[in-house]
Amino acid sequence: MKIGIVGFQGDVQEHFEMFTRIANMGKNVSAIIIRRENELDNVDGLVIPGGESTTIYKLIKEYNIYDKIKEKFSEGFPIMGTCAGLILLSKNTNDPRVEGMGMLDSEILRNGYGRQGESFIDLINIKGIGEVPGVFIRAPVIKDTGTTEVLAYYKNQPVMIYSRYALGMTFHPELTEDTRIHEMFMKMVEGEGYISTGEGIGVMTK
Ligand code: GLN
Repeated sequence: MKIGIVGFQGDVQEHFEMFTRIANMGKNVSAIIIRRENELDNVDGLVIPGGESTTIYKLIKEYNIYDKIKEKFSEGFPIMGTCAGLILLSKNTNDPRVEGMGMLDSEILRNGYGRQGESFIDLINIKGIGEVPGVFIRAPVIKDTGTTEVLAYYKNQPVMIYSRYALGMTFHPELTEDTRIHEMFMKMVEGEGYISTGEGIGVMTK
């Protein structure tokens, strides 16, 4: 499978290396960095990295890939967003500078944990995976999860959500050596979407 990574700003290389690591473990995956609209047609799924959501938003608008991503999503194209990526996938960002794409029915408070200095790392427990290190960097808070399913909480706050073809988290799995969240996304890509089994995510029979 081929995964695209939106490549303007943020943790682009880190996501790329994560898929390379998974490929080196013997799985059939390759990643490409995407900066042009037509490149979206060559991939099976997409990652929007962590970084600065206002900047990524500006550039994906300018390069005409914002609408193309939305259009492809409506046809069942799976997308994962980490941190700034989650902000872009959400319905309401509460910030006029970032118009969310609405793939996740969530409402976001940008920088909800505070400033850069309030960044932290702690273990989080993810449904269907178990404990992973959560790297939170000027992370957003999910104020309302809407119709999404919550896959992880940290101190009673939802930090990872999904619905249909979209998976989003307020932390950065790409900054760890743990490949399991990226592999979870690959399963979404393989399964053409997921529904809840109550035990984490399970394959949707389309
Ligand atoms: N605070 C950033 C934003 O709102 C997100 C931080 C991140 O991706 N680490 O874009």
